Amino acid sequence: MSSSKQDQSIFDTLAARLDKDPGTPVNDPTESFWQVPRLPIADARSEQLPEVADVVVIGSGITGISTSLHLLRQDHSLKIVMLEARSAISGATGRNGGHIKAVPWADYYALKEEFGKESAMKITKFRLSHLDALVGEADALGEAGKVGLVRRVEGVSGVYDEEGWKLAKVKLQSFLEDFPEERGRWTICEDQAELNQLGLANAYGCIRGRSGAAWPYRLLGCVLSKMLSEGQLSLETQTVGQEVRCTRSTSHPYEVHTSRGLISTKHVIHCTNAYTAHLLPALKGKLWPLRGQMTVQSVPEAFPRVGGTRSWSAIWARGFDYITQSPAEDGSLYLGGGFLQGGLEKDQDLGSTDDSTLSAQCLEHLEAVPSKAFVHGTGAKVEKKWTGIMGFTGDGLPMVDRVRSHVSGREECEPNVGGEWIAAGWDGYGMVHCWLAGKALAAMVTGHEDEVRDWFPKDEFACSKERLDKMSAEGALERFFGSLTSENKR
Ligand SMILES: Cc1cc2nc3c(=O)[nH]c(=O)nc-3n(C[C@H](O)[C@H](O)[C@H](O)COP(=O)(O)OP(=O)(O)OC[C@H]3O[C@@H](n4cnc5c(N)ncnc54)[C@H](O)[C@@H]3O)c2cc1C
Repeated sequence: MSSSKQDQSIFDTLAARLDKDPGTPVNDPTESFWQVPRLPIADARSEQLPEVADVVVIGSGITGISTSLHLLRQDHSLKIVMLEARSAISGATGRNGGHIKAVPWADYYALKEEFGKESAMKITKFRLSHLDALVGEADALGEAGKVGLVRRVEGVSGVYDEEGWKLAKVKLQSFLEDFPEERGRWTICEDQAELNQLGLANAYGCIRGRSGAAWPYRLLGCVLSKMLSEGQLSLETQTVGQEVRCTRSTSHPYEVHTSRGLISTKHVIHCTNAYTAHLLPALKGKLWPLRGQMTVQSVPEAFPRVGGTRSWSAIWARGFDYITQSPAEDGSLYLGGGFLQGGLEKDQDLGSTDDSTLSAQCLEHLEAVPSKAFVHGTGAKVEKKWTGIMGFTGDGLPMVDRVRSHVSGREECEPNVGGEWIAAGWDGYGMVHCWLAGKALAAMVTGHEDEVRDWFPKDEFACSKERLDKMSAEGALERFFGSLTSENKR
């Protein structure tokens, strides 16, 4: 960041936004393409709020759903109540880009520098394992899973900046050196004729690799509907979690106060991602919201229809956009991103939980992406636009752990009686974190922690005091601007 007075004052304003209480979700979000038509269970809730539970899961996105499902797989007898402030899956999970895309060639380099080789490898493997896991879950749903439209695609990351392209090749090399088994799965292309054949215009090069594309609202909707129809879970929509309190009860040590009354419970699990710091204020400025912008754009006749087999990223000198395509004949592009393209002064997205409004500066950029990035993109037209809220952390890693008193400010109960837990802070990459983080957390809650050591970056995602003490809103911003795009971190 420049040290001019004006920049400093913008920086201070942004830092103050990250330090704010994120509050609870706004009532009237923009309408996401993915959420039309609404799920039959969108407004499900009991006539009377249950008074007692074994587990209260707050949040009905992919994290809350995965955690609940895996808890029940561990212990079928658990009584779980899931709270949702709005309609089911109406948060980021129902509003995102639908990419199941780990970008190890970009991320590994920075992870290794910051956290060391062992941790970087563990985190990278964890992210990469999500594609198979989600494809497997969709397959297991049989016919129902097909409407989830989880598909394996080739992810094409086009780099539209000369320096960025040089760096991308170095980083890919660094990743492949430590992951020899991945060689051949990630390839570079920088021949202009080939790039044009791939449909890319103006790119210096691209990296091609494994990826996935999904309709998360429908996929997770199927999973949640199945749990509800089997009577395994009580979903309480339009029910805001307002406060968590400790009680003196030896059987149900927590009370969750909601907009519809209170529930006594053994465990409370915070799956509220961007909003987590509302109920856990110690996380303000350490786990903060960022508003993302999505569009659906119709494409001209000449634009190839390859949505069933391909997805893209467009990586600019600053920032990146992410694009999937409808696998149907219409070939519409689902295009999101545009963050900070209007400069710091115009930014309204950092720290914002307002998904009832659009991001003007992101939209201005996104409208122009098809014509700038694709050979046949000129003439694409925005048909639908909406926003959604992500959760980012001060060091770029999620928080998946038991909530200790240094985070909750509450006394901890005996671990064999119950506990308070968190799974949040996916830094915009929920589809390659949340599902298996939910599985890991479920194992921890039910006392099977040892089962996750081999495949889950438990220490790296822990909410230790030492880790949290290193985080601040100012530090988060410095870090964030220094590594503005995940796909071209320096
Ligand atoms: C525009 C956009 C594009 C994205 N694109 C991608 C992508 O392509 N690939 C990818 O991997 N990730 C993407 N992400 C990120 C991804 O969607 C998220 O990381 C992921 O969905 C988080 O899931 P979650 O269940 O943790 O949170 P959410 O899905 O946000 O669910 C949290 C739920 O908690 C509810 N809630 C909050 N507070 C309370 C309360 N006090 N009481 C009751 N309920 C409450 C909310 O209403 C919400 O439904 C994108 C996100 C956005 C916004």
